[in-house]
Amino acid sequence: MTNVRIIERKGNKPGKTIVILAGIHGNENCGVQAFDSIIPSLKIIAGKIYFVYANLAAIRKNKRFIEYDLNRCFLKKQSFEMKNSIEGKSAQDIIPYLNEADVMLDIHASYSQKSIPFVICDKKWIREARIFDAKIVSYNWDFFHQGSTDYYMNLQGKTGFCYECGYLGDPDANIIAEKAIFQFLKWAGSIDGGINQFYEQKIIEIKSLYKNSNEPFRKIKNFPDFFMLSKRDIIGYEGEKALYCEKGDILIFVKDCESIGGECFLVGKEGKQKVNKILTSQSLKDLKERT
Ligand SMILES: [Zn+2]
Repeated sequence: MTNVRIIERKGNKPGKTIVILAGIHGNENCGVQAFDSIIPSLKIIAGKIYFVYANLAAIRKNKRFIEYDLNRCFLKKQSFEMKNSIEGKSAQDIIPYLNEADVMLDIHASYSQKSIPFVICDKKWIREARIFDAKIVSYNWDFFHQGSTDYYMNLQGKTGFCYECGYLGDPDANIIAEKAIFQFLKWAGSIDGGINQFYEQKIIEIKSLYKNSNEPFRKIKNFPDFFMLSKRDIIGYEGEKALYCEKGDILIFVKDCESIGGECFLVGKEGKQKVNKILTSQSLKDLKERT
């Protein structure tokens, strides 16, 4: 296990097995910094936590990935090339821990300079996502981001959250990551303390992903994540061809893509569903009953 570092911490009482990941994308190092600051003095009362530094080579080089996007490698069956790549092997090393975990949190950050913290999870965990300080909770990513850690947990009907801490260059992103980790650990019952709940969350359903099929894609400007179009407008150009989105479309992760088949941008819509349940410390028990 050369490209993954795993630190295990245990409480005295029985409890949940938790996996928290940082550095899945090596240039999003807020989670790595949060780990370095949290782990040495953490007082765990129950259960077991695996802290996973997920892509050491990419973290060292401050790059998103070396050969494959690690967050597309958590698949039941990897291609031959992926299987033999740095990230493919890293995913194989991490998967047994995800198989053992009851709940998972994966810490990320966005390329978009104006990005704000948001949550990615399965539709059925939207209410639980109130433990995260985020104005947006998004769901329905699995079809578009197959092989992500939350996708892998969803496959098994287990709870997985991806928490995006805002812009990866924000000097406070590590503090945002730390707060999310503490909230998650309190919610899971592995550390003591009260849980804050964040009720003002917009629910966004991911509807589509645009990949360039013929030529490089260039965005027309910087779009903040979750920017909603007030009219039909150009998002960027694939070669000479202008690409439009419609009024009401919500744009996420719009980025230039040099190579063909890149993930140029995602489009979401604001979800209609009402979320009324109050979160309690019993939520994990509720989760178990529902899965
Ligand atoms: Zn990421």
